Amino acid sequence: MSTRPLLNRSLAGMGTTIFAEMSALATATGSINLGQGFPDTDGPEEVREAAVRALRAGLGNQYPPGPGIPELRTAIAEHQQRFHGLTFDPDTEVLVTAGATEAIAAALLALLEPGDEVIAFEPFYDSYAACIAMAGARRVPLTLRAPSFRPDLDELRSLITPRTRLLLVNTPHNPTGTVLTPEELAAIAALAVEHDLLVVTDEVYEHLVFGGAHHPIAALPGMRERTVSISSAGKTFSFTGWKVGWVTGAPELVTAVRTAKQYLTYVSAGPFQYAVAEALRLPDGYYADFRADLHRKRDLLVAGLTAAGFRAFEPQGTFFVTTDITPLGEKDGLEFCRSLPARCGVVAIPNAVFYDDPEAGRSQVRFAFCKREGVLEEAVARLKRLAV
Ligand code: PMP
Ligand code: GLN
Repeated sequence: MSTRPLLNRSLAGMGTTIFAEMSALATATGSINLGQGFPDTDGPEEVREAAVRALRAGLGNQYPPGPGIPELRTAIAEHQQRFHGLTFDPDTEVLVTAGATEAIAAALLALLEPGDEVIAFEPFYDSYAACIAMAGARRVPLTLRAPSFRPDLDELRSLITPRTRLLLVNTPHNPTGTVLTPEELAAIAALAVEHDLLVVTDEVYEHLVFGGAHHPIAALPGMRERTVSISSAGKTFSFTGWKVGWVTGAPELVTAVRTAKQYLTYVSAGPFQYAVAEALRLPDGYYADFRADLHRKRDLLVAGLTAAGFRAFEPQGTFFVTTDITPLGEKDGLEFCRSLPARCGVVAIPNAVFYDDPEAGRSQVRFAFCKREGVLEEAVARLKRLAV
């Protein structure tokens, strides 16, 4: 037998994702799962019914068209126009994917070559590191540091080299909850234009900004032709299991991403595509209520974690609050999260796994607040036992 490892070396060390590990731990121990970011109630009943109707009507039960069904591509284009004033041609500038996860993979595999450098905010969402590695490229972290988790734009400039191909942006940012300001986005866009860089922007939490607004980088001058924007129905409509995501961008970019995508899944989620087309057209009230609900839950969990002795960094967006555990006399987030179910029946995510330099995030732990209020209250009550 060859001694060569079976797993492609670019994936060495990337064992089971932290979300899978921690959700399995929650199930095995019967703990409250504030780890993986999925809502514990399903999205709107009418959207669920739309999926049932499609399934029964035989819509999407066989391979849908490669770029996605026209109804959904049109609805995605309308949504980009309605919320962000961005105009996309549903036929050439929109691509439906198997969740944002496939969109990220297809974009990075399509646009990167071995030796290219990608600058991304650290802590990174876990699939970024894996997909950059699968493309043979190199990730270059721009670390967001506590307590503000703002990007240092001078540092960003200093990280750009002749090998830099792409900036990987994520706003609202998982796990810190940072929402980039118009000024930060303008500075990032100016650097992209100056150095002729591509931008891939992950905006799956576009409807979850509390108090401020989400600004898509694609709207800025010079960005339309160099930006691949990614979003997903999973978060916005609370159907994370449906895995319907999408890409919007200039035709050349979408064609490149589609070329890679067609050899990943080819197509997915046929009947759900019809349902998501309806979901995207829900009235503004749906989006406002969804945001207000998560805003309340954010406040509840931030206050509860603070009362339980954590240092909670209030997120401006997303499903997540990052905390520091040092006030509890703890140092190591990974150890803390592995012991938490036994100690008090709660599961959380150690942010260290999202850093190239685990020391930088060693004492940080992420909690999800996309859960019922009673569940959040019970979790807080349990976490309060840690301090006594
Ligand atoms: N990007 C970020 C920042 C996420 O938090 C997630 C998890 N929802 C994804 C991408 C993946 O999205 P999807 O479930 O649509 O694949
Ligand atoms: N996006 C979810 C989170 O950050 C997890 C999705 C997954 O398990 N890959 O928690």
